[in-house]
Amino acid sequence: MTFLRTLSYVHGQSVDPDAGRYADKMDPRTGEKLCDVAQSEASDLDRAADSSADALAAWKNLRPTQRGRLLVELARVVRAHGSALGEIEALETGKPRQEMPALIDLVAQFFEYYGGIANAMDGELVNVGPAYHSYVVREALGVIGVILPWNAPLHQAARAIAPALAAGNTVLAKPSEHTSGSLVEMARLAVEAAGLPPGVLNVVVGQGTVIGPAMVANQHVRKISLTGSLRAGQELGRLAAERVMPLTLELGGKSANIVFDDADLDAAVPGSVRAFTWNSGQWCAAGTRLLVQENIHDVFVERLVEAVGRLRIGPEDDAAAGPITTRAQYDKIASYFEVAAALGVKAAIGGRLPVDPRLERGWFIEPTVYTGVTNDMPLATEEIFGPVLCVIPFKDEADAVRIANDSPFGLAAGIWSRDIGRVHRVAGRLEAGRIVVNEYGGGFVQNPCGGYKLSGYGREQGMDALAHYTQQKSVIIRL
Ligand code: NAD
Repeated sequence: MTFLRTLSYVHGQSVDPDAGRYADKMDPRTGEKLCDVAQSEASDLDRAADSSADALAAWKNLRPTQRGRLLVELARVVRAHGSALGEIEALETGKPRQEMPALIDLVAQFFEYYGGIANAMDGELVNVGPAYHSYVVREALGVIGVILPWNAPLHQAARAIAPALAAGNTVLAKPSEHTSGSLVEMARLAVEAAGLPPGVLNVVVGQGTVIGPAMVANQHVRKISLTGSLRAGQELGRLAAERVMPLTLELGGKSANIVFDDADLDAAVPGSVRAFTWNSGQWCAAGTRLLVQENIHDVFVERLVEAVGRLRIGPEDDAAAGPITTRAQYDKIASYFEVAAALGVKAAIGGRLPVDPRLERGWFIEPTVYTGVTNDMPLATEEIFGPVLCVIPFKDEADAVRIANDSPFGLAAGIWSRDIGRVHRVAGRLEAGRIVVNEYGGGFVQNPCGGYKLSGYGREQGMDALAHYTQQKSVIIRL
């Protein structure tokens, strides 16, 4: 155990919750207690929001290059303290430690990217004829609430916090109650090592159902970016509507990964395995509906199952995937084994809790492949958020697009094909915010990320995200 108590970090200081309440944070690798986590109340949130509001004017009025320089410095600090940050994240989430260097690098990239373009937020001269001088400027919104999930805590935090700060806002972040430690530590480093003024990045630790509504009710908060489940997005959206508060919602997915018969199967097989097993399937963009052209279905499934059988999940630092991060999520995934049994769907591999004694203590789920699934079964329509794959055959291009789009979600999709014309035709017709071809997942800091349909609205990442953290002002001067 390397840390005992996770507290909020507000105005450059660790603070205990008003009510003095803490919850147990459990270790997903062993099911044993790891530390206490503060249970903040609305009063804690309100005090943190006062600090964010106090810090706003000075931060907003810094020259954009000065803000940018501080964010680039934060990137340097994140890299310099990468092993400590990565260790907290690995402990809290259960992710294999071998993934931490790449994760820390990605987190730093967000601060480098938005630090670099902080001064690219130009205004615009509007030509309305000689009688007027008119221009449009983009201004910071104010205090931004950032609510985060547990599956990729620092990554999701950095991609929302970096553009919000670059645009001149201050940030009041609420990490998942299951994985708060890494963001609290990053906020501490931001102030104490990178030199961000206190209050510019505050972190309040607690339950979403308490802190979320308190954030919406707080008059300093002008926008919230929530990355999380559809349920949380809908609940927050209903409250925010009362205040006409803008939101960015990055919600769930049930993404289609489409393999055509002309694909390079040597790449498509491991790519499709990774699509649903990376992070033990706790990945919003996971490719959990595998659409395979019917004439290669049987051979593809055979190779896929063989590759899944070779995967080593476990508590080890070099495992391909670790445990499920929370007990509740573990139980939820396991409940789909009952759903499959009730539907008479058989697993080609997995479909049960592990019997390997190495995996007895933690919350491990064997990667599971279901064949004979139809696209209307709950296995194919609901986000399971675990390493559970449905394989669905299709006839031709039109059929693949029809099945892929027949989903309430639209976060991501994969296409495997050597036919460049087909790739463009299918990419153009898929209803998904991110399409990756001949690879699965991926995406760069520069690529906007977000969903169609129930997967949410607004975008994180890329140049556009800066605009999402601003509002436009038109100035019209009669000469
Ligand atoms: P969750 O919705 O349970 O929690 C997410 C965050 O919202 C947590 O901080 C939680 O405390 C908070 N929250 C919960 N109820 C709330 C409410 N009523 N009001 C305000 N905040 C509330 O999600 P999770 O289980 O932590 O994460 C998994 C979900 O996140 C999956 O659905 C996954 O697809 C989604 N996700 C989406 C993306 C994306 O980019 N689209 C990325 C990662 C995760």
